[in-house]
Amino acid sequence: MLTPFAFLAVSLLRVAPPAPPSPDSAAFARLAQEFVLRALSFAPITATQNGLHRFVDPATGRTILLDERLDDVSPAAERRQLAYYRGLAARLHRLHPARLDPQTLADFDLLRSGVRYALYALTRERAPHTRPQVYAEALGNALFAPISLEYADTASRARHLAARVEGVPGYLAQAARNLERSNAIHRRVALEELAGVADLIRKTGTDFVRGTSSEARYGRATAPALAALDRYAAFVRDTLPRRPQGDWRMGEARFAAKWRDVLQVSRSPAEMFARAKARLAEDRAEMLRLAGPLHAQWFPAHRHGADSLNPVVSEVLARIGEEHANRDSLLVQAQHDVAALEDVVRGRRLLSLDDFSNLRVIPTPVFMRGVYGVAGAVFAPALEPKLTTFYWVTPIPPEWPAERAEAKLREYNRYKMLTLASHEAVPGHTTQGTYANMATPEWRRVLRSFAGNGPYVEGWGVYSEHLMRAAGVEGGRLRQGPPDRAQGDAAPRGQQHHRHRAAHPGHERGGGGAPDGGRRLPGAAGGGGEAAAGSARLRAAQHVPGGDRGLGGAPARGGAGGRGGLQRLPLSRPGAPLRGAAGAHRPEALFRRRGPVGVGAGGPVRERGDMKPQRHERAREAILPSPDKETR
Ligand SMILES: [Zn+2]
Ligand SMILES: [Zn+2]
Repeated sequence: MLTPFAFLAVSLLRVAPPAPPSPDSAAFARLAQEFVLRALSFAPITATQNGLHRFVDPATGRTILLDERLDDVSPAAERRQLAYYRGLAARLHRLHPARLDPQTLADFDLLRSGVRYALYALTRERAPHTRPQVYAEALGNALFAPISLEYADTASRARHLAARVEGVPGYLAQAARNLERSNAIHRRVALEELAGVADLIRKTGTDFVRGTSSEARYGRATAPALAALDRYAAFVRDTLPRRPQGDWRMGEARFAAKWRDVLQVSRSPAEMFARAKARLAEDRAEMLRLAGPLHAQWFPAHRHGADSLNPVVSEVLARIGEEHANRDSLLVQAQHDVAALEDVVRGRRLLSLDDFSNLRVIPTPVFMRGVYGVAGAVFAPALEPKLTTFYWVTPIPPEWPAERAEAKLREYNRYKMLTLASHEAVPGHTTQGTYANMATPEWRRVLRSFAGNGPYVEGWGVYSEHLMRAAGVEGGRLRQGPPDRAQGDAAPRGQQHHRHRAAHPGHERGGGGAPDGGRRLPGAAGGGGEAAAGSARLRAAQHVPGGDRGLGGAPARGGAGGRGGLQRLPLSRPGAPLRGAAGAHRPEALFRRRGPVGVGAGGPVRERGDMKPQRHERAREAILPSPDKETR
């Protein structure tokens, strides 16, 4: 029976979609199309990452091969960008948002924020003049992209790489001229990352070009590039400290401005702070509620007074934190986690998306470890969504003392790592990115890639964490049943772990790509052939571009491959005994003790904070000549 309301809905469904774009929407589309191309042409490094390889300069008609270039960081280039964004802001102002269709209106908001932020970055933030590390990060990305992204054949990418290495001395000379002031923290990060760039040129790049027609050219460019890196490092270490010093903090007013345009939220920092404070009390109460029974079980002799929250929660957290990987096996654990999560997504039919074969879990390149202290997702180019998506996991540096390594591992314990993988990888940002990559036309996809709405993108990441928790991962139950069968209803034991990602298209990006998050679409689960596909993917995962040696991270050696301990996956297993808790009444596998994932010895990394930088943030660098990492 069709109620009037249902009838209306059906009619709307039938009528609404094919609406032709209004003249205003069409005008906006032209403007946005021009914008994404121009913005990327200002930033060839980001262009490669987004899958834009050539650009026809409207002024000269000349075709620019973006993959062979580094960003122009000269004052003249800065002036050109400033003029362009000011003009664009004026043109946007003349459009009438009220006349735009809803999709286009969302893009209008993104573009307006993006332009505003670009102007802020150019005139007020001025990172190229105050942050020596931005050049190291840009160079690392510039050189890593042709190696890791398979957008063309190896010979072409080797040529691109060689051309970019040739550009290093000029680029860094300009960088030193640009820097007016700095601070000690940024200088230290810059020096660490510069070492990573040198390593990339010396090892990974050399390996990559070997046997190609660009090998000799690359060889000739190497020494001058390395010398330039040394000179720049000496400048950062010795000269910059004698120039004016500035606070790394931006101050309240600039923070509020940046907040508005980066987060694109309507609440002010003060309002958000008040909400967070209010919420903190609720969250702490919830922590006590959850920790109480475990505390009673694990520490039956303890008696705490009235104010028991801190001791109870911290003791329980400390106990959970004991369960972690060895210092050299974080990457292997992440690979296991992703494989297990994929099994859950498929086995429980959580999403219509069931192919994550484009995803590779690799060590974070050294030059980005100053930013990606723990892990992060790096997405396939917006214009080439079929290319690899990476889940970067930052290994612990070998030079870290045991105590420091242990502190990081306690925090990034088994369960935290699993949460991280749910957020960053599967279903996580990969799912949102995959759907965002289906957006058409292309300008929309690119716009949402690098001017995307962060809270929107992160919302899907966080939602994924909740989704997987509700699905029984990480402490919940995968399903009711006999304890030893309950661990994975997703796949037979011993099979589920051997799938190491290689990858699916995915972008982390904002705007409007419409992930179907928790939609449950029957029939979507992948069925047969998993074992075969799994081993192929395992091989692919191990074929990490520049992986083991070049990037200096923990070896990607087949952690997954055929080790006996793999049954003991980080998934829950109701009913498993708790250590020291005979007759435990709470069988949650979250707290099931488990040995280290890998065979550990002394492992290695530098870590700065608990940051999970995301693609959209990196991507912003396209419009913004001045990436800002420290806010994370
Ligand atoms: Zn206690
Ligand atoms: Zn995220």
